[in-house]
Amino acid sequence: MHDPTPTSVPALADLHALGAAQQPSYPDQAAVDAAVTRLRSFPPLVFAGECDELKEKLAAVSRGEAFLLQGGDCAETFAGVTADNIRNKLRVLLQMAVVLTYAASVPVVKLGRFAGQYAKPRSSDLETRTLPGQGEVTLPAYRGDAVNGYEFTPESRIPDPQRLVEVYHASAATLNLVRAFTTGGYADLRQVHAWNTDFVLSSAVGRRYEAVANEIDRALTFMQAIGADPDEFHRVEMHSSHEALVLEYEHAMTRIDSRTQLPYDVSSHFLWIGERTRQLDGAHVELLSRVRNPIGVKLGPTTTADDAIALAAKLSPDNEPGRLTFITRMGAQKIHDLLPPLVEKVKAAGVQVAWVCDPMHGNTYEASSGYKTRRFDDVITEVQGFFDVHRSLGTWPGGVHMELTGDDVTECVGGGEELAEIDLSERYESVCDPRLNRVQSLELAFLVAEMLRK
Ligand code: PEP
Ligand code: MN
Repeated sequence: MHDPTPTSVPALADLHALGAAQQPSYPDQAAVDAAVTRLRSFPPLVFAGECDELKEKLAAVSRGEAFLLQGGDCAETFAGVTADNIRNKLRVLLQMAVVLTYAASVPVVKLGRFAGQYAKPRSSDLETRTLPGQGEVTLPAYRGDAVNGYEFTPESRIPDPQRLVEVYHASAATLNLVRAFTTGGYADLRQVHAWNTDFVLSSAVGRRYEAVANEIDRALTFMQAIGADPDEFHRVEMHSSHEALVLEYEHAMTRIDSRTQLPYDVSSHFLWIGERTRQLDGAHVELLSRVRNPIGVKLGPTTTADDAIALAAKLSPDNEPGRLTFITRMGAQKIHDLLPPLVEKVKAAGVQVAWVCDPMHGNTYEASSGYKTRRFDDVITEVQGFFDVHRSLGTWPGGVHMELTGDDVTECVGGGEELAEIDLSERYESVCDPRLNRVQSLELAFLVAEMLRK
């Protein structure tokens, strides 16, 4: 196969030769080649210059001068590309960001887990369900809308490379709406604060956070009284991110920037490598080591300090601040034991990195009803542990990475509304991991705000 690839990025075939975990087994290589050719012809979804701007902001995070809020669905779906869904997600992120900005007294970098988050790593290649009249049926696991269909039928579960082309269009539509919303007045600070006030006043859960909301109100009123009305009150900068998983897609979207002659993965501003694909000599680490975007790596409980230092050497050889973010996901019970030695040794090695907490993926369990869920309290406990550890080591707890939605779903238990396991079936919509719903997300923002102020 001929790869018209940038000179400093390996050919797709060479990447595959390194060994790539979690890839689809496509039945028809000609169809894969056709989809990749099509993707290579499409314009970039983001500009290299925008990726550089985000890198600057993440450099501030690594210096302790900014805080990162990264959030969105575990898995976006094509059916979820609707104005309502995107607007609700954006709204809750903006609401959270205002609360965090006030509490942190530093800029909050806003990074959506959207416009490309369509491919999922799975712990098993197969999924077994008991179907009425058919008994136990085993099919290939759902790997995200980028790969196959969620519907539990043999046809739907066959990987189809044409879906990668659809990922591009779905991402383009999402980004377009996000850009329109964030620059077109929807993100006006007073408006966002009014939504927060509404949350605080209209619910029992919200009332607990009335004091902070009132403080923000006074700050805004003061700004208004002195006639301050900066441009920043009327627009926000929102960036996009997703897990770089399917090599065909990420490779096809990697282009040479005409300005700098350097390769960027122009499918998203920020890409991360998942816990299951961070093999030092594997294809994902190799590809992301070549692109100039700011990048992240998930670090789970088995990560040694040597692993993290070796990843940093490979992914960020220039040790440029903002280039590399470590997203730790240890679990609420383990973080106090596992995070300190990791942070200490990485710090001692002089690695420039932004430390971010993913309090979701170490805290998943199966409810007795069979739903995958997470306890709100475990999520908060892990974030608190993250703050405790970084504070005791003198490093900056740089941000949070959340699976959330702006809708009133019932996927995680607990929180002020005291969602119980029995409630999960009411509105469980995630096709992969459970997300915090709108109220739980806002609560989390207020609780993290308290941690930031201490
Ligand atoms: C995810 O972010 O949805 C995910 C699969 O995370 P991890 O790679 O940390 O397991
Ligand atoms: Mn997930």
